[in-house]
Amino acid sequence: MQRTRSPWAWLGIWMAAATIFCGALASAQTPQPHRTQNVILVMIDGMRWQEVFRGADPALLPIPGPEWVGKSEDMTAAAEAHYGQATAEERRKALMPFLWSVVASQGQIFGNRDLGSDSHVTNGLDFSYPGYSETLTGFADPRINSNENLPNPNATVFEWLNAKPEFAGQVAAFGAWVVFNGIFNRERCGFPVNAGYDPFTAIPPTPELNLLNTLKAETVRIWPGEPFDPIPFHTAIEYLKVKHPRLLFIGLGETDEWAHKLDYPAYLDAAHLADQYVRDLWELVQSMPQYRGTTTLIILPDHGRGDGTDWNTHGVKHPGSEQTWMAFLGPDTPALGERRAGTVVTESQIAATLAALLGQDYHAAVPQSGLAIQDVLGK
Ligand SMILES: [Zn+2]
Repeated sequence: MQRTRSPWAWLGIWMAAATIFCGALASAQTPQPHRTQNVILVMIDGMRWQEVFRGADPALLPIPGPEWVGKSEDMTAAAEAHYGQATAEERRKALMPFLWSVVASQGQIFGNRDLGSDSHVTNGLDFSYPGYSETLTGFADPRINSNENLPNPNATVFEWLNAKPEFAGQVAAFGAWVVFNGIFNRERCGFPVNAGYDPFTAIPPTPELNLLNTLKAETVRIWPGEPFDPIPFHTAIEYLKVKHPRLLFIGLGETDEWAHKLDYPAYLDAAHLADQYVRDLWELVQSMPQYRGTTTLIILPDHGRGDGTDWNTHGVKHPGSEQTWMAFLGPDTPALGERRAGTVVTESQIAATLAALLGQDYHAAVPQSGLAIQDVLGK
């Protein structure tokens, strides 16, 4: 028997149809499928592409550095023994063995200008705060023109993601340089930022954090705003183990600091340690169920440096300081290895690339940001 439909029944049918239509619309806007659920961004301050792709420079290796903790001749001899192999291929593998084994075979590395691959910053200043801000916000803001520890007027992609329910409380940043407090805008951003010599107290103490905070307070200080890299690195590792963040920043600083001190052996050792840290991170996350097979690692510096004997410094007066490199390793990134001429990449693309790996469209929200790097997303 057929029954006349009541107005309520018609309303129900209309709502069902509307739901299906809206569902179709929503699925049309759903970001592309991605396997990445977590991103770790490691930045190595002022690490030159020249050493990344050619290894230690044979012309710079014999130059004695300043006397710090030992005789400079001994430091130079050790650096030549560790990093002074006959060919550039051997030297780069000796300097950054993880980058030139795992990342080179399973990920992508941009910026080898000897092969015509171009990676650079767009901020026109070629020093740290503008470089980090460009990378983390996706654009160069002319107001960001000094290294003063001022609160960033712009939100980073970390702050943008932390404001979303699925990332809230899943974001953290650790850096050697105290100015990361300003770059991430610690007062506003809503997630833990720990930098410089500040003790880390944002989570209940563990024995490891207590020891790290003690070392931070008591270890000899060479730079007023920056402890040695092991301090922020191991603090970040402890946080990762305890809190399992989905988005983690680690900023290492010794490469830039030793370079400014004209200490090539110490600069090389800092780069080598940074590579070891990236390996430690990668192996740690592959041992943890939340991260295994679903984590992308991004590694890059905040600026380049001068060329040849101008290697130690950087900035607009030192040609080549805008030249950088960047590496990606994760489940969505095709294993294209060392990139050649073709795709030009800029640090302003990192924010949108990082967000896209997590299924989020940062460029749509912040149109002045660089576009996500499609090659890294496997598109
Ligand atoms: Zn510097």
